[in-house]
Amino acid sequence: MLCQLVRCCVYCRGVHAVRATGLVKRFGTTTAVDGLDISIGSGEVRGLLGPNGAGKTTLLRMLFGLIRPDSGTVELLGHKLDHLGGDALDAVGGFVEEPSFYPYLSGRSNLRLLAKLDGQRAAAEEIDDALGRVGLGDRAEDRLSGYSTGMRQRLGLAAALLRRPRLLLLDEPTSGLDPAGTRAVATLVRDLAAEGVAVLLSSHQIGELEKVCDSYTVMRRGRVVWDGSAAELDAQAPQSAYALFTSDDVRALEVAARVSALRIQPAARGGLAVAARIDDMDELVAALGDSHILIRRLELTVSPLESMFFALTTDHGAEALDALEPQQLADTILAGA
Ligand code: ATP
Repeated sequence: MLCQLVRCCVYCRGVHAVRATGLVKRFGTTTAVDGLDISIGSGEVRGLLGPNGAGKTTLLRMLFGLIRPDSGTVELLGHKLDHLGGDALDAVGGFVEEPSFYPYLSGRSNLRLLAKLDGQRAAAEEIDDALGRVGLGDRAEDRLSGYSTGMRQRLGLAAALLRRPRLLLLDEPTSGLDPAGTRAVATLVRDLAAEGVAVLLSSHQIGELEKVCDSYTVMRRGRVVWDGSAAELDAQAPQSAYALFTSDDVRALEVAARVSALRIQPAARGGLAVAARIDDMDELVAALGDSHILIRRLELTVSPLESMFFALTTDHGAEALDALEPQQLADTILAGA
């Protein structure tokens, strides 16, 4: 009964799947993680972003209990993580950097062996289900040595699923995946979140994160420089950039001049370049419709997450970005300058 109650409390929404406070990790003179707090609720998908060397992998390794923090505490699914791992890691799955397997065994045998080493008895159907969910059903009998990088990533996810995780920690899970594989991972992550699984997803692929994340933690030089929900990010981000193609660009420029905070100019590659927040863009679209100007194409060239990430992790502040001409905004951020 007690056990059931504990499970219930831990898995309810609102209870933290991850609660880490004051984490510090130094390697010699390098402070990889510097007083970091992070919390993730059940069913929440949180994106972890940061430039190379920001401390993302070090954070994930501490959450997995692979390295000990110099200070700070980690609680996973209601259990304190101690240096022996303890109960805290029981329902945690995932991988850091890239998953590794036995090259001379098949995908299925690897999973069977991993489950055994993990002290779990995975039924054949469960292994089939995990392989199917990651799209490896028809390659399950092939030896690992013949797997592509993307297939190994998929098998890593299947291995994580076999642990029936309540918390998934994934480091670059889509690296090496083709577009179909990337979409499949996104669907899988959203399905798991709908079942209440919390996910921390580290990635450099901002476009992929935007499709699945409810919230973000942005790191720079070992510290959290921004933390919040996707809606908060949209509200706080510098202007996004759009490419707009209309039936009458000359009149569209006149209409756009009446939308106050928005900036627009003819684009070098044809059409119009626009820098705007989403509300201003809504206003422009409505105004163009009222003026019977057709929108032939509208593309988001720099998203709120991209502009926010750029402002937070480079020496260009949000104000400096908001002052750029639309074309310059897109070119600067896309070039990563
Ligand atoms: P990337 O996006 O390149 O994977 P990251 O955000 O994951 O980077 P970390 O790998 O956590 O960054 O590294 C953070 C800092 O800690 C870097 O300066 C790195 O050189 C240093 N570091 C990480 N692991 C070690 C280690 N085992 N020994 C020494 N320094 C380390």
